[in-house]
Amino acid sequence: MIKKLIDKLLDKARTARAPRTVHGRRVEVPKSQHGIDPALVDERAVKVVRTLADGGYEAYIVGGAVRDLLLGLRPKDFDVATNATPEQVKALFRRAFIIGRRFRIVHVVFGRGRQDHGLSEVIEVSTFRAQVDAGAAEPVSGNEKTAKTELAGKAHAPAPGHVIDAEGRVLRDNVWGPQVEDAARRDFTVNAMYYDPLREIVVDYHGGISDAKKKLLRMIGDPVLRYREDPVRIIRAIRFAAKLGFEIEPKTRAPIQSMAALLDNVPPSRTFDEMIKLLQTGHALASVEELRRHGLHRGVFPVLDVVLDEAQRHDGREKFVRLALADTDRRIAEGKPVAPSFMLACMLWHDVFERWKQLEASGESSFVALQQAIDAVFDAKIGDISGRGRLAADMREVWLMQPRFARRSGQSVYTLIEQPRFRAGFDFLRLRGQAGEVDAELPLWWERFSAANADERERLIGQARDATPTRSPTHAPGADADPARKRRRRRRRSGPGAPEPAPLES
Ligand code: ATP
Ligand code: MG
Repeated sequence: MIKKLIDKLLDKARTARAPRTVHGRRVEVPKSQHGIDPALVDERAVKVVRTLADGGYEAYIVGGAVRDLLLGLRPKDFDVATNATPEQVKALFRRAFIIGRRFRIVHVVFGRGRQDHGLSEVIEVSTFRAQVDAGAAEPVSGNEKTAKTELAGKAHAPAPGHVIDAEGRVLRDNVWGPQVEDAARRDFTVNAMYYDPLREIVVDYHGGISDAKKKLLRMIGDPVLRYREDPVRIIRAIRFAAKLGFEIEPKTRAPIQSMAALLDNVPPSRTFDEMIKLLQTGHALASVEELRRHGLHRGVFPVLDVVLDEAQRHDGREKFVRLALADTDRRIAEGKPVAPSFMLACMLWHDVFERWKQLEASGESSFVALQQAIDAVFDAKIGDISGRGRLAADMREVWLMQPRFARRSGQSVYTLIEQPRFRAGFDFLRLRGQAGEVDAELPLWWERFSAANADERERLIGQARDATPTRSPTHAPGADADPARKRRRRRRRSGPGAPEPAPLES
């Protein structure tokens, strides 16, 4: 009770300090005007809203889900915003977890809580946040990448509030406030609407409905300030424009190019999530082109450098990555699922490949070299992938399968085909075939083999044995040019007890 009172007083004090400049006017839009089809609304999100409402709190579906509903699309995930604090939310649900530090929210979990296929089974519930007031926030001297220790020291402030770095970026954002401020701190007008599924009304503060109709992506407030607060919004602008087919409103578009350098100081773990989303828009190729158009090549997404960088346009990587992006877009258009792990495996493949060949050349056994190459690439390109264990494990599996496709005899063929991730490994091989990186005959053979009955399979194995390949199936530009490596390879293959599960090149 006393804690509640203190919380309330603290919130009041903070709210009073927040600037009131870009607040919108609250407009309640009835169903006759917004036309949202309740059948598109996830029942779990409705359940969360109802539970919170029954508990005496305000609660709405918010953000991208409302935007998608307005556009008649079925949202992939649903976020809920409420005036209940994370602790109060957690108390209302059996399986709810408070997560995040920079931005504390509650995950309400349904089913098994998996997020990777189809609809998410996690509803994210966030407490309405107060607008950031740079004058009242705690400044730190470093930037988002370097200020970790300074931030850690602030964890035990009365309530972790706003922390801002030297460039104006918000590093901690946990001050609760009224809905009107929560709306003002969201990025784009179309992302700042609230839908109450019980009353079927949309609450709109910034003309989001009108912008959605005009297909305009408009930043709330001063775009320059907003990009400075959080440069990731630059990537988000590009992503939404590509995904929704929206125009970026001129004032929102203007500062993008000159401010892109700010992205350098954003930790890869943050750009990573945006990148995965960008690749899954169904317009990955278009998004990549859009990034290039805004001069956002190099560095923004280390793993996309290969597509964005002119200098690398003529080596085989570019072709492979483009094929992978086009393939992903096609799958999404056909309503098929795409696995982030598969796309990332494609993006990073040539880094792994080059490193693998280098390590082999320095005398490491092929299998160990591949393992080490994978570790090195994870370290260099993705940063901290702890907490993304499954994703990394899936990527590793797809890569480790590649050399095994080269062996088309013995028991290993059957072991490989029984692997749960065989299909992903095969799709990857197929792309390599299209890119001219392996003999086109190899993926064809595996396709036939996987569809064949027992007799046909034996016959296919016989055929593969008879047809001695004329070139290495895992060749890449320059990969087979080193005669010393070839000698080592021969020696290893003829030597007894090779530890590899399969020879890495045939
Ligand atoms: P998607 O459909 O791709 O998930 P989304 O709009 O739901 O798009 P999320 O990253 O899930 O994007 O964020 C949910 C909401 O949180 C956004 O709609 C927006 O209101 C707010 N938001 C997210 N990231 C930011 C940001 N960097 N700055 C301001 N608001 C943000
Ligand atoms: Mg979302």
